[in-house]
Amino acid sequence: MTLPDKEILRTYIWEFFLFARLKAFVSLFLLILLGLSEGIGLLMLIPFLHLAGVADTGASTSGSLSFIADLFRAIHLPMTLPVALCIYVGIISFHAILSRWQMVINAGINHGFTRFLRNRLYDSLTHADWLFITRNRSADMTHVLTSELQRVGYGTHHFLLFISNGVISAVHIGIALMLSVPMTGIALACAMIMLSLLRPQNRKSYRIGMAIHRTMQGLYTAVTEHLGGIKAAKSYNAEQRHIQDFHSVNRGIETLFIRFAKVMGDTQMFYNIGSVVAISIFFYSAVGIFRIPLTHLLLLIFIFARLLPKFSLLQQSYLHLVNMLPAFTAATDMLDRCRLEKENSSALCTDPIRLEKGIAFHRVSFRYDKKVNSYALYEVDITFPARCMTAIVGPSGAGKSTLADLIMGLLIPVAGRILIDDIPLTPQRIYRWRQSVAYVPQETFLFHDTIRANLLWVKPDANEEELWEVLRISAADGFVSEMAFGLDTVIGDRGIRLSGGEKQRLALARGLLRKPDLLLLDEATSALDAENERRIQESIWKLYGKLTIVIIAHRLSTIRKADSIVVLDGGRVVETGTWCELAAHSNSKFQSLIKGGDLQKSLGGITDGI
Ligand code: ADP
Repeated sequence: MTLPDKEILRTYIWEFFLFARLKAFVSLFLLILLGLSEGIGLLMLIPFLHLAGVADTGASTSGSLSFIADLFRAIHLPMTLPVALCIYVGIISFHAILSRWQMVINAGINHGFTRFLRNRLYDSLTHADWLFITRNRSADMTHVLTSELQRVGYGTHHFLLFISNGVISAVHIGIALMLSVPMTGIALACAMIMLSLLRPQNRKSYRIGMAIHRTMQGLYTAVTEHLGGIKAAKSYNAEQRHIQDFHSVNRGIETLFIRFAKVMGDTQMFYNIGSVVAISIFFYSAVGIFRIPLTHLLLLIFIFARLLPKFSLLQQSYLHLVNMLPAFTAATDMLDRCRLEKENSSALCTDPIRLEKGIAFHRVSFRYDKKVNSYALYEVDITFPARCMTAIVGPSGAGKSTLADLIMGLLIPVAGRILIDDIPLTPQRIYRWRQSVAYVPQETFLFHDTIRANLLWVKPDANEEELWEVLRISAADGFVSEMAFGLDTVIGDRGIRLSGGEKQRLALARGLLRKPDLLLLDEATSALDAENERRIQESIWKLYGKLTIVIIAHRLSTIRKADSIVVLDGGRVVETGTWCELAAHSNSKFQSLIKGGDLQKSLGGITDGI
């Protein structure tokens, strides 16, 4: 095969045997037994033909027959038709039992291998660097983890079939060689010619496999993006566009699978015609040229009649295997990239870092793309004293979210240092540090389960009392207790059955459940109703002084009581101070943020003093 992926095929086979090890050898051993039992079953046809009175004149026939007669004598059995039939039934039953056993073992190997690949990739993805994850489309990751690895499983099934048919064909060829070397040579030559004529089909299969990979990727993207933005799509009446996109990708998939079916169909048709031609040549040579004895001729025809379809199956399994290789490549590529971008933190030590003095940024710079010279944050110096509240404000794109990600250790500065209680936040300390942080993002992450399950996600061993305690602090106890099933109420996909404010309060409760030292809050930009806004702010004030609070603020009412307000612009700290200090300068950036509407006035009736 002149495919660009011989290397991939080798990698695939290597990975497969590395996983299967002993099981592969057991399967191979069973295969050899299967081949032998099938071979003996075939050889049993000689005494049948003899006992049925088929003329037998050839010297080699009588040689084979006398060998079988010797075998009968050795096991003290008369060579009669009932005995021969009983032995035949015994051999074929043994073959059937072995076959079933081997099938189960192969299914175990196949599904085990797919599970192994899937788990390995998922683990690597989960431990990959945050920046790497943001650079990749989640639809692509889902696609590889589900559909592509499913295809690898299907390809592995065919790889195992390929080995099975290969071993059994080898046994058939061995027996045929025992009966007639020249005739077997002719049959093999015919098979080789057919295989070489079918080589272009391998390339076609591979190319279709590549196209299936790309089109399925498109399907996953279409579905994920549509479902993610279905509300917006409905509000813009854009459903029809999504439907058209989806239908078009789906049509593409249909076309590709039909093209693959055509490749398979062509191969099979060619084989069927080729087999008839081969058998005719074979028959003509056997009768007209080599004058093979009748018993052997019948047996050879019987063997080749079974062998040629096996070659066809071999070819078909190979086409499936080659078709799957792009899926395997996608999975190994993704795995390699995840490993290359592995987060450098160690999850071994689970002891949280307790925050006593505070967090300090010393000339911290960060850029998302090392090739571009623009920084998301540049030489930032900020101190977040312990048990104080620091608000971060700034226009969109100022670097607020980047700052939050750096505090959590999701991003690593390209220059400067982040100190936690005067000790640098090294990759080795990041996992411990995150144990002390509760992050409440704007887009709350809630899953389709009960409120209890959503809360226990951060602390599975929390008791009922702890749950209600954090709900109370977050002012979420009221609405939870009013729900039909209280803590056991299912909140729908991404918490769809809750209001924006309720989701935020629940997310806050969940963050608090792990008793953090740092509460990192990204305030929702979308307007909350006055009541919800007031409740959330009251919750935050309740926590004031008990833990360190860093809040990315979008409302004047939130920042009014902050100990310190940091104003970011263009990735730099442009102003720092208390509310009174910043409000005193009429030309300050802070004032322009207020005037420009980047900081919303309170809806909740909390006076902002402006
Ligand atoms: P803010 O939260 O203040 O709106 P961000 O921290 O999100 O600002 O963004 C700061 C800068 O970094 C912006 O110029 C933004 O375009 C860029 N940026 C943010 N996230 C990424 C990312 N994942 N990849 C590349 N650039 C990014």
